Amino acid sequence: MGPIRNIRDVAEKHLCTGCGVCAYLEPQGIRMVDDLGQGRRPVVQDGAGQGDALAACPGKAMGLPPFDGSKGHLKELWRGWGPILELWEGYATDGEVRLAGSSGGAATALSIFALDQKRSSGVLHTVARGDVPYLNETTLSQTREQLMAASGSRYAPASPCDGLQKIEDSPGKCVFIGKPCDGAALKQAEGLRPALSSKIDVSIAIFCAGAPSTQGTLEMARQLGVPEPNHIESVRYRGNGWPGMAVVRGKDSAGQTVSGELTYADSWGRILQKFRPWRCYSCADHTGEFADISVGDPWYRDIPEGEPGRSLILVRTERGRDFLRAAMEVNALTLEKAAAHVLPDSQMNLLHTRGAVWGRNWACRLLGVAAPKYTGMGTGKTWLQDLTFKQRTQAFYGTFKRVFTKKLYKRRPVVPFDGEGCS
Ligand SMILES: Cc1cc2nc3c(=O)[nH]c(=O)nc-3n(C[C@H](O)[C@H](O)[C@H](O)COP(=O)(O)OP(=O)(O)OC[C@H]3O[C@@H](n4cnc5c(N)ncnc54)[C@H](O)[C@@H]3O)c2cc1C
Ligand code: SF4
Ligand code: SF4
Repeated sequence: MGPIRNIRDVAEKHLCTGCGVCAYLEPQGIRMVDDLGQGRRPVVQDGAGQGDALAACPGKAMGLPPFDGSKGHLKELWRGWGPILELWEGYATDGEVRLAGSSGGAATALSIFALDQKRSSGVLHTVARGDVPYLNETTLSQTREQLMAASGSRYAPASPCDGLQKIEDSPGKCVFIGKPCDGAALKQAEGLRPALSSKIDVSIAIFCAGAPSTQGTLEMARQLGVPEPNHIESVRYRGNGWPGMAVVRGKDSAGQTVSGELTYADSWGRILQKFRPWRCYSCADHTGEFADISVGDPWYRDIPEGEPGRSLILVRTERGRDFLRAAMEVNALTLEKAAAHVLPDSQMNLLHTRGAVWGRNWACRLLGVAAPKYTGMGTGKTWLQDLTFKQRTQAFYGTFKRVFTKKLYKRRPVVPFDGEGCS
């Protein structure tokens, strides 16, 4: 397939994660669009996307420095999970935030804290579009109401880094929330843009096993009785409980108002996860290794009926540690220290994926298909030490099959989709 020379190569050769940082770094030549079967993807003018945009692109490459014992990171977690200084488990002290949140509302509670204390002037994150509610957009929230309206994970494409200029232009520091690939993009852009870096109060990454394309949302809506995209009035994927129900509201084929619900096991397990683009299968960082703080589900135990939600919180940097301490001082979160084993006990599937990625990416390279470059992330050792022989074989040979069934050997041009607003 040849080398990756520009952002169009990244997108067309199945490497794009959809973060949007290229559009922030080169707005004259690159714009983000929705591609129905893939996710948020860049449309690139001829000659654009070769400089900073390519250097910051997490789809092409990302890397961690070697483990340094003097920095205080937990050695036993470094290889499988990246830099971690502390682990906490808990929830937003404000019951409304806890209930609305996807897990325990930690991301929203930390954001409300930053605005309330006036340490941040905005929070850059993702919200459902008002005009086309099954698509997402990046927004800079400045009130509790705006943050609450965007709480709850959206298992659908989002490109929060396309809004980084809003942080650069803001009068004060800001909070950034995104998936792990968005956090990696931010970190790489911070290295290139000191003006951006000076405006980041904290970056928060939400754990992510893969972002389904918009086709996944439309299929879920269809199964819930709203077959026409322009009849979808709202889509919620999680939250309002833990993990909470997926809820689609809209009109059925007879024009009657319907509100359909699915459990998380059904929405994610039976429908959405099948629509993850290939790039999510070759992703090594599912827990936000480049963010200051990352948050996910403490799935290590059974969830009692009616449990309003709990979050697992990883502190990854000193900036993250200072921020969390300040939030705890004003009781924004109710937390207790968690032992290191809680992370693998909660998210073993993500560790297995990290190992499988090594085999998948080498299978791609052997067939001449582009694969992301990971340095210092221990994917090879994870492949050897944490996967069974059967899992290794499946990862390798499964990829050979997918290269042909998904036509990964061919360039796939980005197909913009504007969506149809609710009628
Ligand atoms: C695609 C996807 C895959 C996930 N996979 C996992 C997983 O494997 N393991 C796991 O533990 N949890 C997973 N989650 C859920 C999420 O990581 C946890 O619920 C996390 O603990 C956040 O919960 P919270 O209550 O702190 O967030 P909330 O307080 O509810 O806040 C969520 C924040 O995330 C932002 N956001 C929502 N959707 C997106 C999106 N698509 N892209 C970027 N930002 C978004 C919102 O703007 C909001 O600020 C996934 C979420 C998504 C969107
Ligand atoms: S991964 Fe991000 S920076 Fe790279 S091409 Fe995709 S949107 Fe652009
Ligand atoms: S699986 Fe990885 S590449 Fe895909 S959306 Fe999640 S963090 Fe990004």
